Parts: sequence; C-alpha cells; structure tokens
Amino acid sequence: MNIALIAHDSKKELMTQFCIAYCGILSHHNLCATGTTGRLVSEATGLQITRFMSGSQGGDQQIASRIQCNEIDLLLFFRDPLNAKPHEPNEADILRLCDVHNIPLATNIATAECLVMGLQRGDLDWRELVK
Ligand code: PGA
Repeated sequence: MNIALIAHDSKKELMTQFCIAYCGILSHHNLCATGTTGRLVSEATGLQITRFMSGSQGGDQQIASRIQCNEIDLLLFFRDPLNAKPHEPNEADILRLCDVHNIPLATNIATAECLVMGLQRGDLDWRELVK
C-alpha cells in the first residue's frame, strides 16, 4: 500500500510518536509525506519516506495529484483544527479528493489507529467494494 503522511506543526510530534508506535506495520508499506513531516518521521523511526515539498510550498498539492492518479491508498493527515493555515484551501481539496477516490483518510490519531490496525489485518480491501 502507498501511505501518505501530513501533519500540521502542532501535530508533528503526535505523528512522529504514532509512526514510532506503528513502525513495524508501516515498514511493510511505501510511505510518502510532505517535507517536514517526512523528515521528522524518518529521523525518528528510520523509515524510508519519499518526501515531497513542504505543505506551504505545495507539498499537499503534490500528494493531492497522486491521489487523483490513484497512487495513494491511505492518507494520515493530522490536522490542527484550531489554527487556520494560509494553504488551507489546498488541504480542503485533499479531503475532497479522498472522498472522490474512496481513499481511507484519518485526520486524527484515533482514526489512524483503526486504519493501521485494519491494514495489518488485511481488512482494507475497500477497492473490491467500489469496482
Ligand atoms: P510539512 O507540511 O510537513 O512540510 O510541514 C505539512 C503542512 O503543514 O501542511
């Protein structure tokens, strides 16, 4: 599976801790991330992560275009719901594209745990349902 990671600044530590906790599962998949998120997670975990640009530089749009091309199977996007970002419209588009393409999306750690546990069990065969 191709898994994309994005975390707003206030959620980067949470994303890092999450990836440390689930490193064993995540290591079996192809990971990509926006620039800073990817750097912090790979430094903390040793996971290989394809890094796009930083979110503010267009990294979220790079991930959005991969979602459009069916190159992302799961998105973990830990958002800060309290502080607006200048590039928030792009981020809203990522959420919309996940719905358009039926991509499992977690915007908080509780949902992310459900998805990663489902991934481990092989439960995420949703593509069979939408063919
Ligand atoms: P970053 O981008 O991982 O490069 O910080 C994420 C964001 O803040 O949108």
